[in-house]
Amino acid sequence: MFYYPCMGSEEPTARPELRWRLTDHEADHPRLFDPGNWRPGRDELSNLELLHVHAKKVINGVHPQSRMHFRWTINAYRGCSHACVYCFARPTHEFLGLDIGEDFDRRIVIKVNAVECVRNELTARSWGGEHIAMGTSTDPYQPVEGRYRLTRGIIRTLSQARNPFSILTKSTLIERDIELLAEASERTEVSASLSIGCLDTDVWRATEPHTPRPERRLEAVAKLNDAGVSCGVLIAPVIPGVSDSHAQLRHVVRGAVEAGATSIGAVFLHLAPGVRELMMTWLAENRPDLLHEYRRRYDRGRFAPERERHRLGAMVDQLVKEAGGARMPLRRAPPARPSRQHQLKLV
Ligand code: SF4
Repeated sequence: MFYYPCMGSEEPTARPELRWRLTDHEADHPRLFDPGNWRPGRDELSNLELLHVHAKKVINGVHPQSRMHFRWTINAYRGCSHACVYCFARPTHEFLGLDIGEDFDRRIVIKVNAVECVRNELTARSWGGEHIAMGTSTDPYQPVEGRYRLTRGIIRTLSQARNPFSILTKSTLIERDIELLAEASERTEVSASLSIGCLDTDVWRATEPHTPRPERRLEAVAKLNDAGVSCGVLIAPVIPGVSDSHAQLRHVVRGAVEAGATSIGAVFLHLAPGVRELMMTWLAENRPDLLHEYRRRYDRGRFAPERERHRLGAMVDQLVKEAGGARMPLRRAPPARPSRQHQLKLV
């Protein structure tokens, strides 16, 4: 049984059995982490259940087939209480045998030894000092970070090692670490991005109910850039029929340019299996008029038709140009491939 001071003295609560590896064959897929116990969150985390685990490793390789521009990631948490209805990361909870709906929103896995792992892994002879992306499968500044400060510890460690990194978040809690990020920016290549899909209050409340207001996120963009931390805006996701109008996108782009965003990009909604069904349920309750179009749009897989994605890219390009901002530079994945050992680890 694990005990950590920040959790108080509550007894562990009985919770479902978790799967601790990807298959039953340990030789093929080593355990993701040592088993832990669920504990009820306290105070501002009282609506959550928290699972402390010891991770075997936390710097993980991206699958070689991935379209991502980075090869390595760190995710100190699993699950995310920001609870965005469309969240692309929900399926990561399934690897543990948890459900991708309410469990993902309320049952948060905490890799309590994440900072220690990063320190050890950065000093390993096999580590090549490559760029590491944070915020790829969970939000590194979701509410639990206010208590556990793992992201803060990881930033400090990466900074000390002069290892380049980037952070993507929807949370203004990143402002807490501005000084640390500014210091890191003087030592190595650092970039931050605030994810802001839409500035309409109704859309925000309906789709990402536990995130800070989008206007506050724009303020965070300005503060980070003022402090010398390169910070952009990722308009993500753009939800067809909900947040994809020309006026809505222009609003976000103008806000981002005014906040001094160093890059602006947009990502069209994609729906992984499971998330697609959750999204359809949400639409049935909130926008039944869109159901038919969504079935057509996503009937062939998780991505919307290419022509729609291209149209979005062209529209955002034009809006950024009109507003005098900087479009997200196209980045290609580096040629180096992760080692086989890292390929086996998912998150
Ligand atoms: S903030 Fe990001 S990781 Fe968290 S629920 Fe929303 S989309 Fe998912």
